[in-house]
Amino acid sequence: MGKKPVRKACTGDDGKSSEDVRSGLSLGSLWRAYIDNLICVQGRGIPEIATPNDRYMAFAYTVRDRMMYRAAHALHAYMNKDFKIVCYLSAEFLMGPHLGNNLINLGIYDETRQAFKTAGYDIEDFLEQETEPGLGNGGLGRLAACYLDSLATLEIPSIGYGIRYEFGIFDQELSDGWQVERTDMWLHLGNPWEIARPEISFDVKLGGRTEPYRDEEGRYCVRWVPHRIVKGIAYDTPILGYRVGTCNVLRLWKAEATESFDLEAFNHGDYYRAVEDKVVSENLTKVLYPNDTQLQGKQLRLEQQYFFVSCSLQDMIRLHLARGKGLGTFHETYAVQLNDTHPSVAIAELMRILVDDHRMDWETAWHVTKNTFAYTNHTLLPEALEKWSLQLFGALLPRHLEIIFEINRRFLDEVRTKFPGDEGRMARLSLIDETGNRSLRMAHLACVGCHAVNGVAQLHTELLKSTVLRDFYEMSPEKFSNKTNGVTPRRWMVLSNPGLTALITERIGAEWIRNLDDLRRLEEFADDREFHDRWRRVKLDNKKKLASRIREATGIVVDPGTLFDVQAKRIHEYKRQHLNILHIIALYVRIKLNPHTDMTPRTCIFSGKAAPGYFMAKLIIKLITSVAKVINNDPDMEGRLKVVFFPDFNVKNGQRIYPAADLSEQISTAGKEASGTGNMKFALNGALTIGTLDGANVEIREEVGAESFFLFGLTAEQVQEMKLQGYDPSALYASNPRLRGVIELIRGGHFSPENPDLFRPLLDSLTEQDEYMLFADFDSYVDCQAEVAAAYRDTERWTRMSIMNTARMGKFSSDRAIREYCRDIWKAEPVRVGMSGCLEWKPGGRA
Ligand SMILES: *Cc1c(COP(=O)(O)O)cnc(C)c1O
Repeated sequence: MGKKPVRKACTGDDGKSSEDVRSGLSLGSLWRAYIDNLICVQGRGIPEIATPNDRYMAFAYTVRDRMMYRAAHALHAYMNKDFKIVCYLSAEFLMGPHLGNNLINLGIYDETRQAFKTAGYDIEDFLEQETEPGLGNGGLGRLAACYLDSLATLEIPSIGYGIRYEFGIFDQELSDGWQVERTDMWLHLGNPWEIARPEISFDVKLGGRTEPYRDEEGRYCVRWVPHRIVKGIAYDTPILGYRVGTCNVLRLWKAEATESFDLEAFNHGDYYRAVEDKVVSENLTKVLYPNDTQLQGKQLRLEQQYFFVSCSLQDMIRLHLARGKGLGTFHETYAVQLNDTHPSVAIAELMRILVDDHRMDWETAWHVTKNTFAYTNHTLLPEALEKWSLQLFGALLPRHLEIIFEINRRFLDEVRTKFPGDEGRMARLSLIDETGNRSLRMAHLACVGCHAVNGVAQLHTELLKSTVLRDFYEMSPEKFSNKTNGVTPRRWMVLSNPGLTALITERIGAEWIRNLDDLRRLEEFADDREFHDRWRRVKLDNKKKLASRIREATGIVVDPGTLFDVQAKRIHEYKRQHLNILHIIALYVRIKLNPHTDMTPRTCIFSGKAAPGYFMAKLIIKLITSVAKVINNDPDMEGRLKVVFFPDFNVKNGQRIYPAADLSEQISTAGKEASGTGNMKFALNGALTIGTLDGANVEIREEVGAESFFLFGLTAEQVQEMKLQGYDPSALYASNPRLRGVIELIRGGHFSPENPDLFRPLLDSLTEQDEYMLFADFDSYVDCQAEVAAAYRDTERWTRMSIMNTARMGKFSSDRAIREYCRDIWKAEPVRVGMSGCLEWKPGGRA
């Protein structure tokens, strides 16, 4: 009955062999497949009655089929080979829309556009239809997505493991200038990119108690008697590399009720209780917690973390055993990266599986565990460092807590040996925070249970070593390294900026798409007149497109001829959107005082979501929209200044915003932004940066050159020093009339006449604490913005700097970052798949 795969050379699409309709890349077979899917999958026999979503789905399946052929081909190439598999564990994957990216990576974007054009369709309409999977909050989740693209492009066999949230990050709307959250219904019209695999499913235990017992050989063992069991089902999304044969997978877990667990209730005829339990189980993966950098110590969040970690490890073990290997070599098969501490309970879970379920001795299990895991730290902000109350953790994961106590006992013994008599150090290093309500420090668990720890930018890694993880660095300096973040040029340039992609490729060829360092060759054209003109025209086109989006979304008309000054990122006090708005108010005051002043016309664009429970961030949005209302309706501002809040910042909107920016706002308090990746996307697309020496800004400036970067503000060191000396914002306030003028205007209700006290909490927080030192950086920022304005008027100089920014962004490719992880941490090598052969399934043999 089975069919045997046979490899043969692709003969091109002669339209004769039966599989062409699912694998062929010619116009003819693509079109036939599309019509087939419209009829057979979407059930639309008459094209006229097909909805835009029908058409999108039919096309998406057409593309997915091609990817599945690559995936099948890759699997065959992997058979009977031994190699390391990279597993990227992340509670968030902010993938963005798949269709366009898959067309690019398959290498059929232009052909397909042409095919649809001939048939009277615009491919843009298909792309528009896709609701993006917003399974992440911001930078951390987007980094995971860029890394999956690079892993596949570099031909590294890998799996992304995460959670299939039914509702991802909320959609943001504005009402009366306030943020309103709407449920993200991304699955409602169907998700053509995922394949449900109900037969890949694992039970996950929760709650209950532990029980000691003696096994047949009289050894002391512990068994976990759970209170409930939830089942995880795998949903796979293929991840294709850029024009390579490699097709990896993103495997997300959905929670369901176990069939067997409620038998008792059923037997007692308690049908409703049994169904109720099912509902409770499915709640586990219902919704993504919408906090970017704020810990929410909710039990459900811990359940989510443990759930996806447990399913993922069980899956890895299943694959490992299926390859005929013993668990003693688990770490030789898998390199598992923990994206922040969210999956760090994996350390205790692997120990539990090895020691309890597979009876491995502790030392061997610890050796395997430590050599399996590596940990990436993403933040220095104390409020973001994960801690779980021992009570909550122990109630949900009683066995894991025992294991963690044992890990801690052994670790503290090591500390005692290395630093005898240093009780303070022991308390600081302990996995348990004994002060107040006892809690478990997840970053400490990650540092102890991993063989490698990394920060995400040079400055961030140095600060980790000297501040929050200093004791761990002193304990095991060899574990620490830096891996500066990167972004994928496929999505963030080729897909989102086709104009610039075409121009660059015309001059230096297309090799830069895989080897971003190649962009350096653009320097040759930095003074080329014609190239300048073309470069500016591309930017202007992108600005026009964004302008029309802005008009649709907000009704505000902006002039693409003005300087587009953009801050797009999560709204957070440390990112200082309010510093940006203070500068805008300063400009407003200046124009009001001298309405005929000659100035560089500016359009200030903000975009970003605030965590729903983050009062101050939501107030900042209201301040921006209130200032916008006043400025945009003042005739004196006409042709000089405009302010826009572009709602619902997500990947799709990011793809429209980054390519259209002239100026990139990267103005966080130095030492607070771990790396940033928005900064890289802007600069890659030719925006100049105004920024502090924070995160990867430091390295961006090093690369592009100080002369092409607008630097302002305190350094991280100066911030620390000033805090130590007792920073007093009220003194600065008293001595700075320009700053006072701006603050007084807000305080007086100029932007909130109906409620003068509206912004009091924000202003009080600035004048009393100013935790993020806006006042200390205000003058430097405003002066720097004046330099920006002057530079923009010198079109030639600006264009030259813009070209230089793009030309020198090679370092910030996620390909570079992934190569470093492979070399230094994972010890993973590419496994070439090749694309020359196609699979042909012949009847007769066994598959
Ligand atoms: C890149 C990106 C981010 C991260 O931006 P930062 O400026 O680094 O904070 C957040 N959200 C989306 C949608 C992104 O594309």
